[in-house]
Amino acid sequence: MQDYLNCRLCPRKCGIDRSTRTGFCGQSDRIRIARAGLHFWEEPVISGERGSGTVFFSGCTLRCCFCQNYEISQQNKGRYITEGELAEIFLDLQSQGTHNINLVSPTPFIPSVIKALDAVRSRLKIPVVCNCGGYESVETVRALEGYVDVWLPDLKYFSPELSKKYSQAENYFETAIEAIKQMQKQTGKPQLGDDGTLRRGVIVRHMVLPTHRRDSEKVIEALGQAFRPDEILLSVMSQYTPMFRAAEFSEINRRVSTFEYNFVLDCAEKFGFDGFSQERDSAGGSYVPEFEGDYDS
Ligand code: SF4
Repeated sequence: MQDYLNCRLCPRKCGIDRSTRTGFCGQSDRIRIARAGLHFWEEPVISGERGSGTVFFSGCTLRCCFCQNYEISQQNKGRYITEGELAEIFLDLQSQGTHNINLVSPTPFIPSVIKALDAVRSRLKIPVVCNCGGYESVETVRALEGYVDVWLPDLKYFSPELSKKYSQAENYFETAIEAIKQMQKQTGKPQLGDDGTLRRGVIVRHMVLPTHRRDSEKVIEALGQAFRPDEILLSVMSQYTPMFRAAEFSEINRRVSTFEYNFVLDCAEKFGFDGFSQERDSAGGSYVPEFEGDYDS
């Protein structure tokens, strides 16, 4: 596994020594998190009845102008912890009865996450979920084989113009679809446990953006070409709310209409994907937990 000395953990491939510099993600070689606790607002097969044990990591490999977690992803809010403390957090979440450990945007810290998981491997009895933006390198996904049981990647865009404009990642789609294929290869088809939550598998999340339903259609068509309907679950999300810098782009400075959302749901149905939709009133800040820490780097 790579370390932080010549960081190429994500497709940005900054190639820097993170003990002295930070790269695109803004993170040094010290683990930084902004929240650890129960989360009840994931898909039902992730949150279950007792909640998902989420750890929100600071920093991100994307710069989405509409990010609802922008305080931690782009403004570097958080607190530093050690690998030992991260391992203790995993065990503490498990002791609270959570269905899983849910790593939210852990990519910049994967070497440390692996060490922390190694330290608790014999005591951790619940699945590990990796909840990420989809912009992952195949090598890093491979490094997590045997550590991650459930992948929860976004597949945000098909168009390179849109991914460049809104997330500063022109090669987003071609990178993400290869990463998701590798994730599915590692976990196989979705498998539910006795408690109704996911033990293994991939849930691809697609959040519908206002104005861009035709791009959503292409995303779903591409998923239909890459996977048989029973190989992945698909979560079509309606929660888009113009936050952070979204107002800079008038076409996405509003919520998604019912027509737009239903159009994308119809596409998903056409390809026979099993999965999840959201209530139309589920948008908004209620999904954003309160983050801890400060803005110092
Ligand atoms: S994890 Fe951060 S420093 Fe490493 S390649 Fe990605 S953006 Fe660059």
